[in-house]
Formats: sequence, structure tokens, C-alpha cells
Amino acid sequence: MKNPQREQLDIDKLFEQEMAKAETDSFALVFRLVLKENLLIPLRMHDYFEILYGERLKGRIDYRQLMLSFVLEHVVKGNQEYLIQHLLPERLASYLIYQNDFSGYFHMYREGKVYCCRFVIRKIGPTPENIFIGIELNAKEPRTADQMDCGIRVVVFEKDDVLKKLLSPGYEVYGADSIQNVLDVLAARKGRITSVLTGGGLSESEVLDLLHAIGEGEDAQKVPVLVTMLEQWERTEADFLAAGAFDFQYLPHNVQVIGNRLSKVHELKNKSALISKMEKDGVTGLYSREFFTRYATEKMKDDLETEYCFLCVDIENYQMYVEKFGEVVGNLVINHVSNCIRRIFPDSLIGGRISDDEIAFLLEKMPLENPDVLSEIRKNAPIPNLSVKIGMVPANASIPVKNLYANASTAISSIRMKYGETIAEYSDAMRMDKQKELRILGSMEAALEQNQFSIYYQPKHCTETGRVCGSEALVRWTHPEYGFMSPGEFIPVFERVGFIRGLDRYVLTKVCADLARWKAMGLPLIPVSVNLSRRDFEDEDLASWIIDRIKDFGLEPGLVHIEVTESAFTDSPEMVISGIRKLHENGFSVELDDFGCGYSSLTVLNNMDIDVLKIDRSIILQDSENQKRSVLDFCIRLAKVMGLKTVAEGVETEAQRRRLKKLQCDMIQGFYYSRPLPVSGFEKYLVATKPKD
Ligand code: C2E
Ligand code: CA
Ligand code: CA
Repeated sequence: MKNPQREQLDIDKLFEQEMAKAETDSFALVFRLVLKENLLIPLRMHDYFEILYGERLKGRIDYRQLMLSFVLEHVVKGNQEYLIQHLLPERLASYLIYQNDFSGYFHMYREGKVYCCRFVIRKIGPTPENIFIGIELNAKEPRTADQMDCGIRVVVFEKDDVLKKLLSPGYEVYGADSIQNVLDVLAARKGRITSVLTGGGLSESEVLDLLHAIGEGEDAQKVPVLVTMLEQWERTEADFLAAGAFDFQYLPHNVQVIGNRLSKVHELKNKSALISKMEKDGVTGLYSREFFTRYATEKMKDDLETEYCFLCVDIENYQMYVEKFGEVVGNLVINHVSNCIRRIFPDSLIGGRISDDEIAFLLEKMPLENPDVLSEIRKNAPIPNLSVKIGMVPANASIPVKNLYANASTAISSIRMKYGETIAEYSDAMRMDKQKELRILGSMEAALEQNQFSIYYQPKHCTETGRVCGSEALVRWTHPEYGFMSPGEFIPVFERVGFIRGLDRYVLTKVCADLARWKAMGLPLIPVSVNLSRRDFEDEDLASWIIDRIKDFGLEPGLVHIEVTESAFTDSPEMVISGIRKLHENGFSVELDDFGCGYSSLTVLNNMDIDVLKIDRSIILQDSENQKRSVLDFCIRLAKVMGLKTVAEGVETEAQRRRLKKLQCDMIQGFYYSRPLPVSGFEKYLVATKPKD
């Protein structure tokens, strides 16, 4: 067993040794950072800062906060982002996993002057938990511009050198006295110049020529141009804008205004382009998604014959860990998983960070047998019970990588809820399902336009009298190519993509039209139930739309019942509850569908404006006469207590009917009376069962 106290002492000692090093003497500021706790402990502090920060240095110092305020208050604008990027706790952790230290330069203001400073970050001990931070003021000039990476870089085109001098303390400035000069710098620092500025001594036409030259250049060299204008110029701002200028200012130069505009440009550029185009992920050292996709594609083209293996690893509950333990731990977790996977699958060719919680690898071949990934990953894991799901897909150059991602996530979905299953291989059955789904998605819109959907009606009978007392509208899809499709196949797909909203409105309209026709034909008018899904309630106007349709067809709201499943209530209760309430208030009867199949909650029953409980077929199937405690009996009694009517679904036998009658279930629906019937069949059924009077 480790002795935490001893370990603590060892770390203290290591810090003492660090402080004793002659090199450390040059640091004006020295801190110890306890990363996990975000805790900063000052070890040495220059008087100037002691006075500046005073109270803020007492008690518990929040590292992140102090670092941010230091950078924002004292560091020149052009270096702020660079420093923050490097000093964020999560960044420190990821850098120091692979290396013991790193350093860099920045410029800061002090008593009105700009100083060049050097910082050194060093890990003390084997893991980046304890970190030494040293800052040296007035250090030598940075050796290369690259060490100030991420800063704002500008090219100043001018004849008088004024602007260059003004901007030099805060930004990395390249002077240019000809258009060619400007283009040369842009070419040499491809995509890394934040902005081009024009300064004094230029003529209007020189500025316009520059704008045209940049406009015609390669994409990577197209940078925003900030033009300095003179009052006496003939051309207006609009002329320069039309030529491609980004912004203007007038002489004399105002450094503050220019600074603000540069930061804005820089921020925009960083946010969009830089982040997505970064080749490697800063945390794991794996390629970013974009580059991984590109390199994996190239790799597979190396050998067209080989069957590679595409591996996608999803870290379960990653967001929850980040929320609970912070980003530092999240990064440790993803690093740990990434390292484990590389160890477990040594023939991995390249890897990429695909999203926050997913990494992917291209392996040389499909593994012969699945290794025990979970127990390997749980060894020395930064958090307990770490779990991953892996999708494995046979890959070759003929399959685009984006399809590999999709197939891997299909494989992962197949084991998402299965405890103890870690690896799923993308199978032919999944391929078929996927193809079927794609066929459904590809043909649904045309199907609605071409009336490929039809409505079947299944009667509901009154248990007491045996008479027809209602029906349920069930949709059917006869596809011109694929033939009959069961709603069980396409409804879940429609729900996922939201197309169900269109279909259900179509069904409801058809039902209204049928009811109106039956009315005109003098057939017995009995209520029809239509099914609504959770997604339908996303439209706020759903209830009023339904009410309008009923009116359009000259019907009463009582003739149309609404069926909603319990799961719809559990998934997004407020939306559904308010929609249902509105329908209820307008005279619609609401039936709670599939009651008893898994989601049952008495709270749901209590909070909902429902009139009828539809007891799921599974409850009927489980029931038998000689059971001591019958769930079916309980459901029916419960409904009675709550003042609800009951419908039993999926009733197939005479025995079931008798039992339901005994338990006083109000209505029966099922093959015992009739299968769902096409409109003409149902009309005949209505005529045949019409009570003689
Ligand atoms: P559901 O609302 O629970 O509909 C009852 C299902 O049970 C229907 O399947 C029906 O044909 C079947 N059924 C009826 N009696 C019996 C029986 O005695 N034995 C057996 N084994 N089954 C019986 P269907 O038509 O395949 O519909 C499946 C599901 O699709 C429906 O379940 C419903 O959730 C959904 N659905 C159907 N039409 C629509 C629609 O227009 N809109 C929406 N949103 N969903 C619909
Ligand atoms: Ca239903
Ligand atoms: Ca049902």
C-alpha cells in the first residue's frame, strides 16, 4: 500500500530541490500548482506582484482564475490567447503526460513598459499532478517567432515605418514597402498572417492594387486588409470595400482601435479555421477527425487488396465524468483509453480523435479474436468503472471513411445498453437493416405524395354487449418496389427523423375524410382512434391544427380519439402534457397506449388528462385464471379507481375474452373480433355488425 503522507513529503522535497537549483534564481515568480485541486501555492513572488495582487494571494488561490486575470491584465494582447491556450489546466495536464517540461515567451506590460518574459512549466514527480511554474521577467528576446505561436501576426504595407513601430511591442509585425513584399511574406507564412494593414505614404491606387493582388491570390493567402485612409482621398470607403477591404481607419493611427479590430479578426480566424484544421488533437496527440479521415483514406489506398479494420471507441458517460470531475480528469481518461487501445491492438496504423468522447484507429487487419479490452482499460484507470464500447468494421479503400464511422456507430448502438458487451463487429444483418433504413428514408417523401400509405381500421368491441364501439386507424405502406412494409419497420425510422409529423397529419386527414363519408352514407358513426407519437407534439400548433381539420370536415371532436404511448410522456413530458391538455379541453378523448409494457409510472397516470387506458397485449398474454395476483386485474381496478375506461389490446381467444369480461374490462380489440381491415372491408364490417333496431 502507498502511504499518502510519505508521498506528500516526497513531492515537497522535490519542490525544495527544484528551488535550490541555480537556474530557478532568475525567476521573479514561482508557483506550485496542484492540478487536481486547481490550487496555486506561491513559492516566490516579486514585490511588484505582491503589491498588485495583495489580497488575492491570500488563502486558497484558484489557479484558473488567477492565471486568466494575470494574462488579461498584464500580457500584451497579441500573446494572450497563446498563453491561455498553453496554461489552461487541461492543457498543462496533456502536455506533461508525455514530457517533463516546456517553456515559452510572452510580452507583458509593467509600469508602462513592455517586458519580454519567459515561463517554464515542469512536472514534479511521475504524473502531472504537481507542477512547477516559473516566470522570468525581462528575459532575452524570443529566439524564433514560432515560440510565440498563436499570437497575432500582421504585415504592414507603408512607406514611413510609423505603424510598424507603433504595433511592434504587442504584435509580431512584418514590414513591407512594396506589394510584392507583402505577397512574399504571405506566401512564406501561408495561412498564418492575421491581417495586412496599409499605413502612411501610400497612394489610393497603391492600396487598390494591393487589394486586387490579394484578392487574386491563393486561398491560403487571402487575409483581411485593414486600410488607413486619408481625408483628402477621392475614393470612398465603399470603393475600398468593393475592392475587398475588411475595414478602415483614418490618420493619425489609433493603436487601440487597430488592436480591437485585429483581436476580432484573430478570434474569428482561430475559432473557425484553426480549430477544425489543427492536425493533431492537443489532448491525445492523435490526429484530428479531419486529418485522420484524410490519412486513413491514403493509408488504405497503399494496398488495395488488404482488408483493414476500422475501430471506433466510444467512452461511456464521458460527459458525466467531465461534469463531475472536471476537464482535467476527462482528458486523463481519454488519454488513458487511447494508450490502452494502442497497446491492446499493436497493429494499429494511425489513430484519430473523432469527437469529445470518441477515438478511432485503423488496424492492419481484423483481429482474429476479441481481446478483453475492458479489464485492460480498468487497470490503472484514472476513474473507477471506466467503460467503453467498440465498433469494429472491415475496411478497405473502396469504402469511404465517413461510411466506416457510420457503420462503427451502428455496431456500437447494437450493444449500447448491453452490460458487459464491449466489442461489436459490424455484421451483414446490420448492413441489411441499414440498407432497409436508407431505402425507407429515400422513398418516404415520394410515398406520401403518391398516396402509397393507406389506412386500415381495427374494430374495438364493447365487452358487455359485444357491439362495435370504436376502431383504431393503423397505417399501411405498400411500396411499389419493396412491397408491403410493416409499421414496426418504418414508424421508428420516421419518428427518429421527424417525418412522422407529416405522416400522422396525413393519417388524421384521411380518417376525417372517411368519417365524413360514412356519415354521408348513413353508416353507424363510431369513434376512430389515431396514433400520435412524441415528435408530433413538437409542433406547438398541433392541437389547433387537429381542431381545424375536424371542423373542416363537419365532424365532432368526440369522434376522433387520440392514442399516445406512455413512453412519449416519459421522454418529453411537458411538451406532450400541454398538447394533450389542449386536445382534452377541446373535447377529444385521449387513450394511453401500450399501458404496462415497461414504462408504467403511476405519476404519469396522475398528471395526464387521459380518459382511456389501453392495456398492452403482453399483460393479457401473461394473465391466467388461476393466478393469485393478476396484473391484469390490478390494471383494470386501477383504471376504475382513477375513473378511466379500459381497452384490452391483442385479444385473440375466447378464453381471453371471457376472462376480460369477468374482470370488467370495458372494451376489447384484437384478432378475436377482427384483424385490421382496409376501408372497404371495414365499411362492410360496420354494416354487418350494425345492431338491428
Ligand atoms: P399499436 O398502436 O399498439 O397498434 C396495435 C398493433 O397490434 C397493430 O400493429 C395491430 O395490427 C396489432 N394487433 C391488433 N390486434 C392484435 C392481436 O390480436 N394479436 C396481435 N399479435 N397483434 C394485434 P401494427 O398495425 O403493425 O402497428 C404497429 C405499431 O405501429 C402500432 O402499435 C403503433 O404504435 C404504430 N402505428 C401504426 N400506425 C400508426 C400511425 O398512423 N401513426 C403512428 N404514430 N404510429 C402508428
Ligand atoms: Ca395504438
Ligand atoms: Ca398498443
